[in-house]
Amino acid sequence: MFFREFTQGRTFLVRLPHGSDLRESIQEFIREQGVRAGFVSAIGAVSRACYSFYDAQKQVYEQIAKEEELEILGLTGNISLLDGAPFLHAHVIFGDRSGMAFGGHIEAGCVVFAGEVLIQEVTGPALERGAKDPQTALRLWA
Ligand code: ZN
Repeated sequence: MFFREFTQGRTFLVRLPHGSDLRESIQEFIREQGVRAGFVSAIGAVSRACYSFYDAQKQVYEQIAKEEELEILGLTGNISLLDGAPFLHAHVIFGDRSGMAFGGHIEAGCVVFAGEVLIQEVTGPALERGAKDPQTALRLWA
């Protein structure tokens, strides 16, 4: 089992701009702040959603888009280094007006209606994503 031990770093509470891209605005913030490792959670709402499902057999992300107002019931993710730069990996659960929930791996294209984000930095050894893992074809922590 792979692991690294960290200590708690800075804690950020961030309100995302209305109309911004959910994934890209968090990604931009962590790069600006130099958050090299940590974890993220968020709630809010979007006016458009883009997420994906990783097909483990085909080893591709199948893209899903929803053109409707949705609650962000929960976004959870982590921050590590990809090719030396801070990288956000996050999953999200959306809820629609009927109360149904669905979600997946967050992609660019989610348009923020409102977003409140907690970013918790951890400090310690570099946490890097390696080359594609042969079993999963994913760039896992290495
Ligand atoms: Zn994912």
